[in-house]
Amino acid sequence: MIRRKYVFTFDKADSKDKKLLGGKGAGLAGMTQMGLPVPPGFIISTEACLSYYERGKRLPDGLMAEVEENLKALESKTKSGFGNPINPLLVSVRSGSAVSMPGMMDTILNLGLNEDALRGLAEKTGDERFAHDTYRRFIQLFGKVALGVDEHYFDVILNEMKRKYGAGSDTDLDVKALAEICQEFKKIIRKEVQDGFPEDPKKQLGLAIEAVFKSWMGKRAIDYRKRFRITPDIANGTAVNVCSMVFGNMGMGSATGVAFTRDPSTGENALYGEYLTNAQGEDVVAGIRTPKPIQELRDEMPVMYDELEGVRHLLETHYREVQDFEFTVEKGKLYILQTRNGKMTTLATVRTSREMVEEGLISKQQAMLRVDTEELDQLLHRRIDPKAGIKPKTHGIPASPGAAIGRAIFDVDEAERRGRLGENVILVREETRPEDAHGFFQAKGILTSRGGKTSHAAVVARAMGKACVVGCEELFIDTKKKLATFGSERIVEGAFITIDGSTGNVYLGEIPTIDAEFDENLETLMKWADDLRILGVRGNADTPEDAIRARKFGAEGIGLCRTERMFNAPDRLPIVIEMILAGDPEARMKAVEKLFPMQKTDFKGILKAMAGLPVTIRLLDPPLHEFLPSIEQLTWDIERLKEFNRIIEAMEAIPESMKTHDHSLRRYVSPIEHVLEELTEVKSKRLFEELIAKKEEVLQRVRDLSEINPMLGHRGVRLGITYPEIYEMQMRAILEAAAELKEEGVEVFPEIMVPQVCTAQELKWVYSRLTDIKAEVEEAHKIEIQFKFGTMIEVVRACMRAGRLAEIAEFFSFGTNDLTQATFSFSREDAESKFLPLYNERNILQDNPFEILDVKGVGRLMMITMEWGKRTRPDLKVGICGEHGGQPRSIEFCHNIGLDYVSCSSYRVPIARVAAAQAHIKEEARKSSDRFDPFDISTYTGPSPSPV
Ligand code: PEP
Ligand code: MG
Repeated sequence: MIRRKYVFTFDKADSKDKKLLGGKGAGLAGMTQMGLPVPPGFIISTEACLSYYERGKRLPDGLMAEVEENLKALESKTKSGFGNPINPLLVSVRSGSAVSMPGMMDTILNLGLNEDALRGLAEKTGDERFAHDTYRRFIQLFGKVALGVDEHYFDVILNEMKRKYGAGSDTDLDVKALAEICQEFKKIIRKEVQDGFPEDPKKQLGLAIEAVFKSWMGKRAIDYRKRFRITPDIANGTAVNVCSMVFGNMGMGSATGVAFTRDPSTGENALYGEYLTNAQGEDVVAGIRTPKPIQELRDEMPVMYDELEGVRHLLETHYREVQDFEFTVEKGKLYILQTRNGKMTTLATVRTSREMVEEGLISKQQAMLRVDTEELDQLLHRRIDPKAGIKPKTHGIPASPGAAIGRAIFDVDEAERRGRLGENVILVREETRPEDAHGFFQAKGILTSRGGKTSHAAVVARAMGKACVVGCEELFIDTKKKLATFGSERIVEGAFITIDGSTGNVYLGEIPTIDAEFDENLETLMKWADDLRILGVRGNADTPEDAIRARKFGAEGIGLCRTERMFNAPDRLPIVIEMILAGDPEARMKAVEKLFPMQKTDFKGILKAMAGLPVTIRLLDPPLHEFLPSIEQLTWDIERLKEFNRIIEAMEAIPESMKTHDHSLRRYVSPIEHVLEELTEVKSKRLFEELIAKKEEVLQRVRDLSEINPMLGHRGVRLGITYPEIYEMQMRAILEAAAELKEEGVEVFPEIMVPQVCTAQELKWVYSRLTDIKAEVEEAHKIEIQFKFGTMIEVVRACMRAGRLAEIAEFFSFGTNDLTQATFSFSREDAESKFLPLYNERNILQDNPFEILDVKGVGRLMMITMEWGKRTRPDLKVGICGEHGGQPRSIEFCHNIGLDYVSCSSYRVPIARVAAAQAHIKEEARKSSDRFDPFDISTYTGPSPSPV
């Protein structure tokens, strides 16, 4: 049997194979082969990681022999030796899966150091302090990551030593102190780990490789994969990159930094980044020192700056994507240590997409696929209202855009807890670490006092689309006291703050925010999306304002207007209640007649706002008791009113009893009598009795109307048939609104939609009423009214009877909220709070079907419904108006099965436009190629499944 090869050198590996080599490995190989200055090294493949797990966490046979062979080659290439006391080889051991998971897995630097190599390093660099500091860092990191020693022990020793040697910071520690620290670190490792610190570099390497493999299944990594839906077909296992070390901390001629080929916040086509002189890479990302903007390097190291400009152009031309790369300058020589697709703000993705098309770097289709539809939301996010005129109290570095308002929380677990309870939380930290990610998920925004735009907090917040301000250096954060102070101000835990991730401003309290605007780049991209899609996109809107917004966001009509939302308006509710309480049809008719002009005005408003476009108006759906107060509320009110009556009676007796029994209380008599006088008037007018009687009447009606399963009860068309006055009024209001607008010269296309239909007879019943009303309205206006009549499909029986329903209905609109409920027999009101999270956690269900369309069940029903419906009526229009209509993966399914349109909330309309374009592009790509690589946008096969 031929043994599998697990190790590949940077200069020979297939740089396109990200699945095998991981993104980092493929990048290192790619850059080496492009001729960029990458320190030599090799990659242990993801297959080795998988084999490690298959073998019950044991390194695959032969792996270490292969590693040793490659080590030898590395030694000869670098003319150094592992553990060599004269010229020691030091390596970094870095994780890297097919998809970038920043900071979620482990990395070890400076591996290979031991007492011998320490001497060698000091000798070679002529800098004993540097060598000792490097050794100190290595023992600490190796102890924590590879040997599992609690990092707290190291912090304690470090702080003690700083105190002992009077050092204000790490950089003040001298050789003697550092040497002592190293020995103390080793002592603690010996105490915690049986074999102590391994002096043999090969042993170190074996342990480090295992530690990296283990971190693939660490909590941080698992949480991240879940959050970004990184399934095994996207990334399976981590590779290990073993790379010879270069040092950015070898004096002022050395530096380390992170750069982007374009600005990741704005998308501007200019080198962007941050660096630190005399520092190691981790200092930049960990946010321990606040780095300098890369433009300063132009003055400080002009040659290096020019070289970086060259690297920027090479990388972009090769990858045709914005790159985020790490570099180190070691004594005046530039090295590139990593490159990956840059995570950008959505604003930047949109701008670079447009510009890269215009520069001829990518096609419009590729530009479209670069956009993460879910993240587009960021651009549609609210901003601080500039008119509010409120000055920020402090500011930091803007790291991820959007305004976020929430309570300041200083503890990550607490932020997670309160976030889960539905509170708006801003996580406030000095800096963040990878293990803080769970707090990020639940926070509305993140504020840190340290770090730059490439710090951990910034990178992760951008990836998650959370507002984030970093490096707010004025803030002094005391996590123990749960307090942040700056100047004379304080932020206590739970206090509201507002942060603006676009400007870096920080405000105390809740600051007014406003809607986002489309910029020119987004407009262009949206136009391309419209050219590239065939699926229609409509908005769900219940008011003219909603409709105007949907139209502004590009909706081609309204796919769902829920008329019950109009019933809830404060001026309507008393009339609606009067209608519900009416004892007989005449009384009901009276109330309905009062509602008629109001509804007509509503419909005119929406139809006018959408002039020239179709507007689907759904007749009343929810059960009537939803418009009445709850039994609990009414019972409480009645009890209080009765109690108040009893109190008045008791008060009436007080003056008499005071006068006769206790002279000292006489002075209180007069005020009580005064209050009583007022109350007697209330009593004599019997106001309370009347109120109680009214409330009791309502209570009785609520009881009459209440149902065990209201969602499966007296609602939708069932209600329309039992209380025909309501639907008749609504249909007349729609047709009259249309007639009047037509008279005014406005082009309108109303579509009347019946909810909850399960049999063709129901539809027929409504349609016959509609035909009569139409004739009356047309006669009255001497005008012909154009409209469509259709049905929601949200009941399983309706799917099964689609052929019959299509005899009457001209269109179907899938109400996938109810249809999902009906298909699963899950109550949509309860499932999400009861068992769905656990179902998802245990993989019983992969997704929440109320969020992401269940294509295997609900989707199948949709396909059957379409097929049978179209058999009866080939030009049947079919759309979707449940929540899924705004969810990208569900939109793709809708495109694939040939729906005419999706309809979603106005804010999601732009997302749906792009998702529809992506679906079409992917379909075209599938037709022309069977090669599927979700990471390579040039294959046109889809948006990256997670931020890549
Ligand atoms: C649906 O059921 O999908 C729908 C749009 O109706 P509602 O959510 O109003 O019940
Ligand atoms: Mg419904």
